Amino acid sequence: MHYVPKKGSFESMKSTNKSSVLNLIRVRGPISRADIAKITKLTPPTVSTIVAELLTEDIIYEKQGTGKATGGRKPFMLSLSDSSYYVVGVYAAAEVVHTVLSNLKGDIVSEKKSPVPDPATKDQFLRLLDAEIKNQLEQNNITKQSVLGIGVAMHGLVDPDKGIALFSPHLNLENIPVKEYLEERIKVPVLIENDVRALSLAESWYGEGQEVSDFICLSVGLGVGSGIFINNDIYKGPYNTSGEIGHTIVDVNGPRCRCGNYGCLEAFASEYAVVNKIKKDLRLGKTTLIRDWLNDERELTFDLVMKAADQGDRLACDTLQESGRFLGIAIANLYNLLTPSKIILEGRIFKAGEMVLEPMKQMIKQCSIQHSINEDTIVLSRLGKKGMVVGAYTLVLRELFTPGIS
Ligand SMILES: [Zn+2]
Repeated sequence: MHYVPKKGSFESMKSTNKSSVLNLIRVRGPISRADIAKITKLTPPTVSTIVAELLTEDIIYEKQGTGKATGGRKPFMLSLSDSSYYVVGVYAAAEVVHTVLSNLKGDIVSEKKSPVPDPATKDQFLRLLDAEIKNQLEQNNITKQSVLGIGVAMHGLVDPDKGIALFSPHLNLENIPVKEYLEERIKVPVLIENDVRALSLAESWYGEGQEVSDFICLSVGLGVGSGIFINNDIYKGPYNTSGEIGHTIVDVNGPRCRCGNYGCLEAFASEYAVVNKIKKDLRLGKTTLIRDWLNDERELTFDLVMKAADQGDRLACDTLQESGRFLGIAIANLYNLLTPSKIILEGRIFKAGEMVLEPMKQMIKQCSIQHSINEDTIVLSRLGKKGMVVGAYTLVLRELFTPGIS
């Protein structure tokens, strides 16, 4: 049985004019009714009717302005309510579930991270998501009636239309019915999206993508993924599988990737690949500081590789530089193909700074045929990993504030 959101709450807030007015209050508030009419070109009576509805629903509040009035009394200024309604964001990563509560302004009110059991069954994973969301609501004394929706950013392949996580390579789970499971238990509408695509939405609303309509987010973690934003919207492709930059081939003679092919970007540049490469080198007896830090190669983590590189360890530095070079090839390919205004980079690997960025930029220069690519095109995400969970709740805010979206 599917949960059908009640008419009269979330659904009724979504008429085109209402969304336009609400979004203007979000972006430009505090704002007067007269200014809303001027900007939206709606008639003053229409604006008054919509504003009255929004005030009744407690989505906005009004306060008499303090600025200079041009004759007569000072106008009432409208602002978004920051404590009447909330949205929940969940970032379901391979190793951790990050849950946050946000108000309608997009301010995070509360957050928590919990580890994902390894290995986890489908049921254990879903129960964890359910418990974390309920915990977030209970801890903050939030009733379900004041929650407009739950957004889930999930790693791996995701079908947002069906609300299913199609495949998680890290948990090795298929067809996880995230939307159905959570809606049945929590009785609040649930939206789900791939984590990097959710990140690109967050970048568009709050980050480096705010001023541009076409950009690409490249995220390097355990895997490598991308979120493609075209004409102010996430590009999903007909099968919801677009953005798999990690499995584009950057060297046909390269190492075997977890997908079965050889020489994928992910097999060179992911945290998983970096750790695996160092493990192999340890077995080959190569000199490295890391050897002294481990009792067993299974203790090797990406953080230790970064630490060794920071201390000038040759093997760690060489490995990260090579990742940088292959990221550069992939970025040049992306740029040659789509010429986005920006390519936004996210991932711990970029914390190594110039060690990764310098060889990356050199390869971009060497492999890109476009003259328009410059220093401002390739930027580091300011939101970082947190952008995934921000993108998760922005999935819900987007439904509320974007005119014409259903
Ligand atoms: Zn692959």
